[in-house]
Amino acid sequence: MIDVLITGAAGRMGSEVVKAVSAADGMRVVAAVDPANHGVTVSDGNGGLIACTVDLAAAIREHSPDVMVDFTHPSVVESNLVIALGAGVDCVVGTTGLPETRLAELAEGAPAGTCLFMAPNFAIGAILMMRFAAQAARYMPHVEIIELHHDQKADAPSGTAMLTAGLISQARATVPDAPGRETEIAEGARGASVQDVTVHSVRLPGMVAHQEVLFGGQGQTLTLRHDSIDRTSFMPGVILACRQVGAHAGLLIGLDRFMEA
Ligand code: NAD
Repeated sequence: MIDVLITGAAGRMGSEVVKAVSAADGMRVVAAVDPANHGVTVSDGNGGLIACTVDLAAAIREHSPDVMVDFTHPSVVESNLVIALGAGVDCVVGTTGLPETRLAELAEGAPAGTCLFMAPNFAIGAILMMRFAAQAARYMPHVEIIELHHDQKADAPSGTAMLTAGLISQARATVPDAPGRETEIAEGARGASVQDVTVHSVRLPGMVAHQEVLFGGQGQTLTLRHDSIDRTSFMPGVILACRQVGAHAGLLIGLDRFMEA
């Protein structure tokens, strides 16, 4: 039995994780931590309720979880990781916004054998979109990314867009100019540059998580698009990571690491 503690348990993602872990074979939720929602109960999806507590360190001492799953906020994920990794708890992190260099430092500071796994996107379709984008970039180096998310998202560009830009940048042999930056009439009209890939961030109510990768070539375009229309799209990836982290150590980034498992 894999014992899972969930931080951000009352949030949009955390509450789905409570249900997904409760429904999965061979694992269970042992604690739900969400300080702003102390005492609030979260449904396990099967008639049960799990109450949120405040103190992460105390919850770890009391329940000795095997894994912490964190879907919180860029401003708090670091302190949660310091506590959990410090206690030797493997971590599955979906919260975006923390630089990879800092994640590496946190993983290094953890007791030997502890794993810090971070996925900017847990949806299988998004992983495939990123793979296809890297493949296409080898042949079509002119590319821009449009990522679209709900209006409560804390960080921009999204972690998925940042990772996609990095993969494109590694894959393509040439870096074409991004035309129009010098003639931008309204600041930001041409988007941000992430590793020389132009990224546009859209924030609107009604959205969940979406991304288009647009390639342009002579007389043709290619568009790759992924839509998470529901947060359940992320849950198989989260469950897979919870099963896998115990067999790994150190920092691992991206669900690809576990997809062939
Ligand atoms: P949300 O605001 O709905 O939920 C966050 C929850 O964290 C809230 O309930 C909040 O009270 C709680 N929280 C705040 N501080 C805390 C702390 N110190 N300890 C424990 N809980 C705390 O946000 P959301 O939409 O669920 O997104 C959470 C994060 O997950 C964001 O960074 C988002 O970008 C990311 N996300 C990642 C993926 C992915 O596939 N990797 C997918 C969707 C969202």
